[in-house]
Amino acid sequence: MAHNVTLIPGDGIGPEVADAAARALDATGVKINWERVELNADVIQKKGEVLPNEVMDSLNRTHTGLKGPVTTPVAGGFPSVNVALRKRLDLFANVRPVRSLPGVKTRFEDLKLDMVIFRENTEDLYSGLEHEVVKDVVTSLKVITRVASMRIAHYAFNYAKATNRRKVSAVHKANIMKLADGLFLRCCREVAAQHPEIRYEELIVDNASMQLVMRPETFDILLLPNLYGDIISDLCAGLVGGLGIVPGANMGESHAVFEAVHGSAPDIAGKGVANPTALMLSGVMMLIHLKEMEAAARLRDAIEAVYATHVTTTRDVGGAAGTKEFTDAVIAAMK
Ligand code: ATP
Repeated sequence: MAHNVTLIPGDGIGPEVADAAARALDATGVKINWERVELNADVIQKKGEVLPNEVMDSLNRTHTGLKGPVTTPVAGGFPSVNVALRKRLDLFANVRPVRSLPGVKTRFEDLKLDMVIFRENTEDLYSGLEHEVVKDVVTSLKVITRVASMRIAHYAFNYAKATNRRKVSAVHKANIMKLADGLFLRCCREVAAQHPEIRYEELIVDNASMQLVMRPETFDILLLPNLYGDIISDLCAGLVGGLGIVPGANMGESHAVFEAVHGSAPDIAGKGVANPTALMLSGVMMLIHLKEMEAAARLRDAIEAVYATHVTTTRDVGGAAGTKEFTDAVIAAMK
């Protein structure tokens, strides 16, 4: 059976890594009908809306997307497309597995890291509710609800149970934001109590950051509200070799959109040097979601085989290959 998938190349390095990931996914032999839709600053300005109808229509047909990054203007301009998409499709769980890859030079290469970040994806300081009260005085609303906190906590614990994980660490700043982070924490505790077989701990976000750098191997599953999840994701990416290799999935009740943790990386866009591993591994997560387990394992093994030999890896992880050479090597390594 063929799968219908919306391919959103995005902008910056997006089109380069999206083409590479689509090639690698096609090489698994799984039949995918790609519906390619453009979503970038030009399209948004031309259409006058952040999420044009073509994009939404396609995702509402396929319910599954593979997405490159879309640049978000800083301190002004149109709102974040990535955030808008997560909210519109109610993709409430952002799941980011952070795993060491063989042969990647990092400050922690003697450790085999394997943790999964569960980031709430729809609220918190990403509410976009900002207001200039009077000139030079701005408020920004942090929204935390029981509904959203409970469902991300359930999602994380259910995943922990299904995959035999041993520990969930909830990350917060409830000593300062007693009401907002306090509510998030109460929800995590409530769900933790339903899973006595899984160890549960709570860490204040500043301490969590230090512990992650000093003892990353002690972490298993991280459960965080939106903003801490964003920041800690990049920190964790740094532990295993950078943004080029960490995948992600945005999961909702009816839709799933797979995208890397990294942004559009304008500094290297168009140069053919971007590392497509993160989006390829997001593609592995997509294959698992589509119940193509054997193909998912083959693509993951091929990526790991290329890293193990370290001959054709990209510059960000210490190699010298370009996006295309790396992709060719992954396809050649597929059994
Ligand atoms: P955003 O705010 O849009 O998420 P960001 O601030 O996280 O973006 P990125 O665009 O992800 O920033 O890039 C951060 C750094 O990581 C840049 O130096 C970039 O070149 C590098 N980088 C990101 N993704 C990749 C990749 N796939 N391959 C190689 N380098 C990458």
